[in-house]
Amino acid sequence: MDLTRLDKVIEIKPGHVTVQAGARISRLDDAVRETGQELLMYPSTRQMATIGGFLAGGSGGIGSLRHGMLRDPGNVTYVKVVTVEPEPQVIELHGDEIQKVQHAYGTNGIVVEIGLALTQATDWVHTAALFDGYDKALEFATKAQSDGFDCYLLTAVERRFAPYYKKFGDLFPDDRDAIFAMVAPGEMERFQTEAERMGGRISFAMTKPEIGKAGLQPAYECGWNHTTLQALKVDKGWTYLQVAYPRPFDPKLVMRQMARYGDELFWHHELARMDGEIQIFALPLVRYRGKEETYELIRELEEVDGCTIFDPHVVTIEDGGMKEIDDTQIAFKKLADPYGLMNPGKTRGWSADMARAD
Ligand SMILES: Cc1cc2nc3c(=O)[nH]c(=O)nc-3n(C[C@H](O)[C@H](O)[C@H](O)COP(=O)(O)OP(=O)(O)OC[C@H]3O[C@@H](n4cnc5c(N)ncnc54)[C@H](O)[C@@H]3O)c2cc1C
Repeated sequence: MDLTRLDKVIEIKPGHVTVQAGARISRLDDAVRETGQELLMYPSTRQMATIGGFLAGGSGGIGSLRHGMLRDPGNVTYVKVVTVEPEPQVIELHGDEIQKVQHAYGTNGIVVEIGLALTQATDWVHTAALFDGYDKALEFATKAQSDGFDCYLLTAVERRFAPYYKKFGDLFPDDRDAIFAMVAPGEMERFQTEAERMGGRISFAMTKPEIGKAGLQPAYECGWNHTTLQALKVDKGWTYLQVAYPRPFDPKLVMRQMARYGDELFWHHELARMDGEIQIFALPLVRYRGKEETYELIRELEEVDGCTIFDPHVVTIEDGGMKEIDDTQIAFKKLADPYGLMNPGKTRGWSADMARAD
């Protein structure tokens, strides 16, 4: 089902937007920017993805550094769902009820309208700070986060990714580890001073129009799963994992992992918030050696290191990010998709005998 013609921005108020689910995130964010506001977060696929796809299939991204994950309270305020039955019903969900459809991958109703919180717009500076050592880069980024630097994105990308970031050339050389960031203009001086104090240097700092003119990617396409995308364009031998670190984050664990896995894994970390607390994620590149090896790696990261893996190599919601069947989502499926027609096989919580018989 193609929803991209449901693309209207319905209403923009101070602190809130109501939008149809098929709207492209870039168009939506541009529209709210005209009112001096911006989205709390978007995926690195901002340019192409729809807001409905983000709600149903995403989890967070650029902006999660400040505002947490999509599912954190207050970020999504409202969802309108159309049921799949001979006489479709319209159901409106508010507040925490939106969890019934958030991240349900279109298994339980067609989302047609969404309400999102907004924040005041900032003309973010797209920048990178370079360090001689991934430990130093991580130390700087984690300090910038805990000191509350006014940033929208802090992404740590180690030097072995440099050949995949072709457009950046000497701006991301292969003998330096990078922190890609979106920094408030008024914070840039402190960002630079602190990076230099910690042994780094600023490689570039540009407005979004300047980034475009220079033929570079915006910083939000240098992080989250765009790191994997950049690598796969050059080398198809990679796959990846989604890793959540135990709290509080210990950068020394990353250094142990780098030493343990050598050239089998290349590392990249995202600094975010979740449930109101600092949460660090990694989306490492993993040299694909087969299924058994992949699951041995997952076991090690979970059991030895205490990380949580959101497995991107599985079909069902439960085997991937959510780990367990969400009974409220299944109960909502009985209402919104009573014949079990939507995204069949995507949830282990639904079996054929649950479908309405008439
Ligand atoms: C390179 C790359 C980078 C990414 N980066 C991020 C990231 O930073 N953060 C993140 O969270 N995700 C990320 N993703 C995952 C995904 O692309 C995004 O979450 C994106 O928002 C999906 O939007 P889409 O319009 O492409 O959705 P689609 O891929 O079309 O849909 C995603 C899922 O949602 C369902 N769906 C779509 N619209 C509706 C609707 N209106 N009602 C009900 N169900 C619906 C679909 O059936 C499907 O199951 C990334 C993916 C790639 C390939």
